[in-house]
Amino acid sequence: MTRRWLFADQLGPHFLDDPQQPALLVESRAVFRRRTFHRQKAHLVLSALRHRAAELGDQAEFVRAETYGEAVRADGLSVCHPTSRAARGLVHRLGVEMLPPRGFVTAPEDFVAWARGRRGLRMEDFYREARLRHGILMEGTEPVGGAWNLDAENREPPPRGAKRLDLPQPPEIREDDIDAGVREDLDRWQRDDGIEFLGRDGPRLFPATRTEALARLRHFVEHRLPAFGPYEDAMLAGDPWMAHSMLSAPLNLGLLDPVEVVERAEAAYRAGAAPLSSVEGFIRQIIGWRDFIWHLYWYFEPEYRRSDELRARGRLPAWFAELDADAVEARCLADVLAGVRDRGWVHHIPRLMVLGNYALQRGWRAEAMADWFHRAVVDGYEWVMTANVVGMSQYADAGRMSTKPYAAGGAYIHRMSDYCGGCRYDPKVRVGDDACPYTAGYWAFLERNEDRLRANHRMRRPVQGLHRLVDLDALVEQEKARGSRAP
Ligand SMILES: Cc1cc2nc3c(=O)[nH]c(=O)nc-3n(C[C@H](O)[C@H](O)[C@H](O)COP(=O)(O)OP(=O)(O)OC[C@H]3O[C@@H](n4cnc5c(N)ncnc54)[C@H](O)[C@@H]3O)c2cc1C
Ligand code: SF4
Repeated sequence: MTRRWLFADQLGPHFLDDPQQPALLVESRAVFRRRTFHRQKAHLVLSALRHRAAELGDQAEFVRAETYGEAVRADGLSVCHPTSRAARGLVHRLGVEMLPPRGFVTAPEDFVAWARGRRGLRMEDFYREARLRHGILMEGTEPVGGAWNLDAENREPPPRGAKRLDLPQPPEIREDDIDAGVREDLDRWQRDDGIEFLGRDGPRLFPATRTEALARLRHFVEHRLPAFGPYEDAMLAGDPWMAHSMLSAPLNLGLLDPVEVVERAEAAYRAGAAPLSSVEGFIRQIIGWRDFIWHLYWYFEPEYRRSDELRARGRLPAWFAELDADAVEARCLADVLAGVRDRGWVHHIPRLMVLGNYALQRGWRAEAMADWFHRAVVDGYEWVMTANVVGMSQYADAGRMSTKPYAAGGAYIHRMSDYCGGCRYDPKVRVGDDACPYTAGYWAFLERNEDRLRANHRMRRPVQGLHRLVDLDALVEQEKARGSRAP
C-alpha cells in the first residue's frame, strides 16, 4: 500500500483506502506568507491538520516545513486529486501518483459529459441530472413529491418581529491543547516572523475534527433542517446563523463526505422528521451548487478567474478589504462586515446580496473580490471562489453560469431582513442625504452597464425602468461622488 499524502483539506477517513494506510501530512508556513488570511481561518486549518496528525499517531508522518517541496518525496507516495491548480501542478512536478478527486458527489467525467456542447451551464439542469444519476430523493425516474425544486415553498422573509429564530444552538466547540498550541504559534508568527492576518481572533467556532463535524451534522439534521428552507434567504441582525448548517468548513476540510451529509438529510425526510421543501432545498445546495461550483473550477479555462465582461476595474477600498466595519454607517453592510471580521463566516445571502452586491454596484474588480473572499472566510478555497464570485456574484463572465447579475436595491434587503428599521438610510429613497446606498447603487449600476445588459432578456424590464426615473441624473452624480467611500 502506498503512503497517502493528505492535503489540509483532505482530512476525513474517505481520503484513505484503508483505515490503517500510512499517511503523510505537511504543515507549510509559506502558505501564510503568500496571502493574508483571516486569523480564525488560519487557526481552523492548522488545528484540523494537527488534530488529524494526532489521531493518526504513528500511522502518519507529520512534517512541519517552510514549503511542501522540502517535505515530500514521491517514492511510494500517492495523493487524491488536490483542490487547486497550483497544488495539482506541484503534485505533477514532484512526480507523486495522483488518484481521482474525492469529497464531491459527481465524477469529473460525468460532469464533462453533461456540460460538453451546452452554451449556458445552469446549476438547476446539472442538479436534476445528479439526482437522477445518484438516485437521491427519487421515486424511480421521478422526483419525490413530483417536483424537482420546491423553492416556491421556501425563501420567506424572517418571522415578523423576531430577533432570532427559535432554534437550539449547535453543540459548542471546546478548544483543547492543540488549539492552545496553534494560538501560540500564530501569535509568534505575527510577532516575530512578519506574517499578517485579517480579522479578529476568537474562540474556534467550526469543527476541526471528524467527531466535532459529525456532532454538528447530527444536530443540524435533528434541530435546524426543518427550518432550513423557509429561512434560507432571511437575515436577522441578532442571528447570524439562522437555520443554516454551518457545514461548509468541515465539508471543505474534507472532514465530512457530502454523500453522508445528503444521506442523513434524505433519511430525515423519509422518517417524517423534516419537510420535503427544506430537505430538497438543502440537498440542492450540496449535490447541486457545491458540486457545480467545484466542476466549473476545472471545466472553465484558468483565465476565467480574470473575466471582466462588465469592465469593473475598481480597487477594493481599505475599509472593506481590512474589515473596518466601524467605518460603515449602512446597517446591513456594517453588520455583515463585522460578522466576517469577528467570525470569518456569514451565510449565503449576506455574501451574495450584501457584500457581493455592493462590490458589483461599485464596479470593484471581480478577481480582487474572489481573492478577498478566499482569504476572509473560514470556508474559502480557490475552487469555491472562482465561479461563486467571478461568475455568480460579480457577473464578470456575462452569464456563462447564471442568467442575470445578482444586483438588487435596498427593497430586497428590507424585505429579507430587519436591518433597515435601525439604519440611518431609507431603502425607499434614491437621492438625498438618507438615500440608501444599495437602492441608489442599483440604479447607478444599471445606468453604467445599460449597453452590456440590454441584450439579457431578464434585465430588459429593469433597464427600461431606468429611463422612467425623473431623478436619474442627480442619482448618477450622487453615486459618483459617493464612489467607494464607506457608506
Ligand atoms: C460571494 C460568495 C462567496 C462564497 N464563498 C464560499 C466559500 O468561500 N466557501 C464555501 O464553501 N462556500 C461559499 N459560498 C457558498 C455559500 O455561501 C456557503 O457555502 C454557505 O454560506 C456556508 O454556510 P453553511 O455551511 O451554513 O451553508 P448552508 O446554507 O447550510 O448550505 C449547505 C451547504 O451547501 C454548500 N453550498 C451551498 N451553496 C454553495 C455554493 N454556492 N458554493 C459551494 N457550496 C455551496 C456548502 O457546502 C454548504 O455547507 C459563497 C457564496 C457566495 C455568493
Ligand atoms: S436602508 Fe439601505 S443601507 Fe440601510 S440597512 Fe437598509 S438596505 Fe442597508
